[in-house]
Amino acid sequence: MQVIRNATLADGRVRDVRVDGERVDAVGEDLDGETLVDATGKRLLPGMIDVHVHFRQPGFSHKETWASGSRSAAAGGVTTVVDQPNTDPPTVTGAAFDEKAAFAAESVVDWGINGGVTADWDPESLFDRPLFALGEVFLADSTGEMGIEADLFEAACERAADEDVVVTVHAEDADLFADAARDRDDADAWSAYRTPEAEETAVERAVAVGNDADATIHIAHTSTPEGVDAAKAGGATCEATPHHLFLSREDLDDLGTFGRMNPPLRSEARREALFERLADGRVDVVATDHAPHTREEKDASVWDAPSGVPGVETALPLLVQAASEGRLSFERVRDVTAANPAAVFGLPRKGRVEAGADADLVLVDPDHSTEIRGDRLHSACDWTPFEGLGGVFPELTMVRGTVVWDGESVADGDGENVRA
Ligand SMILES: [Zn+2]
Repeated sequence: MQVIRNATLADGRVRDVRVDGERVDAVGEDLDGETLVDATGKRLLPGMIDVHVHFRQPGFSHKETWASGSRSAAAGGVTTVVDQPNTDPPTVTGAAFDEKAAFAAESVVDWGINGGVTADWDPESLFDRPLFALGEVFLADSTGEMGIEADLFEAACERAADEDVVVTVHAEDADLFADAARDRDDADAWSAYRTPEAEETAVERAVAVGNDADATIHIAHTSTPEGVDAAKAGGATCEATPHHLFLSREDLDDLGTFGRMNPPLRSEARREALFERLADGRVDVVATDHAPHTREEKDASVWDAPSGVPGVETALPLLVQAASEGRLSFERVRDVTAANPAAVFGLPRKGRVEAGADADLVLVDPDHSTEIRGDRLHSACDWTPFEGLGGVFPELTMVRGTVVWDGESVADGDGENVRA
């Protein structure tokens, strides 16, 4: 059995952690066993569970594949990823689930697949598969420009309640977008167009429908303090992304259309208020919405560039950097990246460093910050919106007892469906 020695856990305790096969065998002092690593002065955290990635396969493998995306995850301390359904074909039938699962089998880290809801949704075949959750489901506005109609959203919530799965919702109401911004062509126009009010109102609607159906609602990528507060007021859980926590509209001068995503970057004041809710516990989960596109695709006008930025490899490094600067506690980092996603989505073996849990572990040295650079990342996407920011990257990532990242290279892993 292998022992990680003298590691500082998220709560500050210094302990040995012994791994037996795929599980943590013991957490204690002076444990017998072969030393895998001396972790004196370093932090040992449970691996991040990123419940929101777009690994693009099938359909868009020029942007990312399960192989490249999961390698990027491993190098960033992410040990479980959950893929969203907007691939080609979209994951709305059992057959589409099977097609994606065959690609996911190449993942280095553990994985889950969310089922989508569109007009072609086939719940019978979809729920016949080991689904992670429904998501990210988009409730339509009256324009019909985005999302699904209200009656289908309601039916999806009712079915999800019966099946005991969470409904992850993309909450933006296009009725409340600011059409005046359409006359502009600077990158900030996207933020001016997709207003904070559009998020708050959509969160309120989704939570109300979900509560009527007795469904468990999780709001994806809340980008505003108003969105977080509306989710909490309705009893829903919510997630925030690293780009909404670490970037704001002020960064768009530099980022241009490379900073376009949905929901968009917000004002610096809203970013600060969102970060405050992360630090004090109102934000339940940090998930990346890792959504890679090529440079060529992003290099277009603000109205034509595709939405989305990569982030799976830089999320934990940015959070650990913030913790090392005292901007949030290591316990909060542990909770939003591991303990809370495990609790919200029902993963009893994951998200904690305790005897009996899966040995999904990440070792970081908070004193060793480096500059984030796109050309050092492992995604097929060779750019990052966080270029030049400080990050604390893992020295070791372990998935169910197997070291998949040793600080220099990604090893072959054997990721499994966490629902199988
Ligand atoms: Zn997404």
